[in-house]
Amino acid sequence: MQAIFDLVRDVPDFPRPGIMFKDITPLLADAAAFGACIDALCEPWRGQGIGAVCGIESRGFIFGAAMARALGAGFVPLRKSGKLPPPVVGVDYGLEYGMDRLEIGSQALAPGERVVVVDDVLATGGTLEAGRRLVERLGAEVIGASVVIELGGLNGRSRWPLPLPLQALITY
Ligand code: 5GP
Repeated sequence: MQAIFDLVRDVPDFPRPGIMFKDITPLLADAAAFGACIDALCEPWRGQGIGAVCGIESRGFIFGAAMARALGAGFVPLRKSGKLPPPVVGVDYGLEYGMDRLEIGSQALAPGERVVVVDDVLATGGTLEAGRRLVERLGAEVIGASVVIELGGLNGRSRWPLPLPLQALITY
């Protein structure tokens, strides 16, 4: 995990003043560390009959698609408003400033299908929680979630319903 930690770059004042952005692109560019990261993210879900990995736009696509391949599962994108062709189902959720919306293809998951929700970073927790609600709107079953980085000081985990597992590889 130290190698993964070392490849996350802190970028002050991005995308806005006062924000310390965690840049995961050096991690993606390192073949050994990226592979180890995907292996570690898959670990809790092996042998659990996962049918689909749902990755959240946009960096959740990178980790989620690689996990889906490693788990022998399908990949389903959870996208920002207006990006997917109809028919879609959407949920609105609160951000630090304002609202956002995530959407899924309305036929993308089967009822009862076992799903892991994936994103790169857990900050205030609103995005991951919206992903969970969206999957459940289609009648699929959320088995848990994985993120690479948890910003522990923002307490996003408190928005995730216990006892559903929420895996974070690195916590700051
Ligand atoms: P939340 O809804 O938990 O506040 O924010 C999580 C979402 O914002 C994730 O989709 C994540 O990609 C993005 N995000 C928030 N902070 C950071 C950051 O420091 N680095 C990266 N890479 N993404 C972030």
